[in-house]
Amino acid sequence: HEFSHSGFKGKVEIPTGLFINNEWASPKSDGARTIDIVNPATGQLITSIPEGLPADVELALDAAHNAFNNTWGPNCSGSERGKYLIKIAELIERDIDKLASIESLDSGKAFMRAKMGDVTTAASVFRYYGGWADKIHGKVIEQSIDKLAYTRHEPIGVCGQIIPWNFPLVMFSFKVAPALATGCTVVIKPSELTPLSAMYMTKLLKEAGLPAGVVNVVVGYGPTVGNALTTNPRVDKVAFTGSTAVGRMIMEAASKSNLKSVTLELGGKSANIVFDDANFNEAVKYAAHAIFFNHGQNCCAGSRLFVQRGIYDEFARKLTEVARRVKVGDPFDPSTYQGPQISQTQYDRIMNYIESGKQAGAKVLTGGERHGKTGYFIEPTIFGDVTSDMKIVRDEIFGPVVVMTSFDTEEEVIAAANDTKYGLASGVFTSDLARAHRVAARIKAGTVWVNCYNDFHVQIPFGGFKESGIGRELGEYALENYMQVKAVQINL
Ligand code: NAD
Repeated sequence: HEFSHSGFKGKVEIPTGLFINNEWASPKSDGARTIDIVNPATGQLITSIPEGLPADVELALDAAHNAFNNTWGPNCSGSERGKYLIKIAELIERDIDKLASIESLDSGKAFMRAKMGDVTTAASVFRYYGGWADKIHGKVIEQSIDKLAYTRHEPIGVCGQIIPWNFPLVMFSFKVAPALATGCTVVIKPSELTPLSAMYMTKLLKEAGLPAGVVNVVVGYGPTVGNALTTNPRVDKVAFTGSTAVGRMIMEAASKSNLKSVTLELGGKSANIVFDDANFNEAVKYAAHAIFFNHGQNCCAGSRLFVQRGIYDEFARKLTEVARRVKVGDPFDPSTYQGPQISQTQYDRIMNYIESGKQAGAKVLTGGERHGKTGYFIEPTIFGDVTSDMKIVRDEIFGPVVVMTSFDTEEEVIAAANDTKYGLASGVFTSDLARAHRVAARIKAGTVWVNCYNDFHVQIPFGGFKESGIGRELGEYALENYMQVKAVQINL
């Protein structure tokens, strides 16, 4: 495929086929079936790629087990594993423009954001876990002078990993890098909507010299390939990012097979709270970023905005102005901030929510309509004067739609913020330090951003309370997802 845009022009070759044992293979089960990959900015076909099926998962698991038992896992030192991960980070950085082009074309995100955000993040995640690989060790526990125990932090084994379409490359790095650092091997299923960056990554993994079978990529649909990974007793662990509905199914399947351990990063309906003593302009800027970043297709989007009554009207006016200035359009235009939604299905889903908000009597402050004539673009949308029973307030919309409400007291807003089955993230804007800490402690969410939003760092753990998930990604915490602790007790 030939991609061109400001700052980059060239050819990007993406291998198609399944990546098993360091080879690009045709699906064994049914070579005739393909998956159409559509450009969300135009609705046109980019390419069709072979569809993997459960029989391919079996082959990938053979490869992953073989690698775990021979070249990786206990047979490869932490410092060796670290070298591979750091090499992968360097190759991602070398190919930053190519990867950003692929990500932009496939998922519709603005090229510059893909480049400076997604691709840069993926490289830093591989480098960070490369640094961890030789620092994983157990502890010595003395019972008495003649008795001691030590713990071994062992890799859990072969991992099935399933990722969504909203941050395809970033999710690939969040999953693969910590698993490899601990010594696990992987069979990963990218989203059927956005598999191209994962497929390009297979070239880089091979170039980095990663032993065959350590990472295997099987592109396919959830109910076939995804389900095969979650139900298969030869998978020791499943790590999933996606919707709460599918997360629930995965946990059930895991419990019914070999009781494999699960890590789930699921949906959200995060509260962003602005007190009247906040830095007003900063809070407006972040409130917009909280919801419109990645076109609202962000699990931790600040989709419920609570503004203290005294500043509510002025805040709504300013945020509306900012939303109207958000440049929506061609992802390869350098001035674009917001690209298209991922698919016709998502577009329809979001428009249905917008319609339901209008029907329920919420006030559209701006947006609420399609943007442009082709592709899946939706105007940045703000609903004011919403009530807690509305669907647009309760459900994750996963689009550029924020609902605004006013509040009077700290007590009241904490109760409202926690009035959701989700608990992924939240924002608190205030200049009162004591209040910031007080509120942060009482919000039931895995992340609380104070005077900022969507601020991710590889060292800082990320994950959900309540129905937003189980386990943490990033930081030292993510290593725990892929290790088990063995106690060796010695009677001297
Ligand atoms: P999804 O749950 O529909 O799909 C996610 C992945 O699961 C895809 O690869 C899909 O093919 C696969 N899948 C679907 N059905 C399956 C099944 N029965 N068994 C196994 N795998 C199956 O979610 P999506 O629409 O791709 O992504 C959007 C959702 O992901 C949102 O709810 C969002 O909040 C969530 N998300 C969460 C995080 C986080 O870190 N918490 C990050 C990104 C996205």
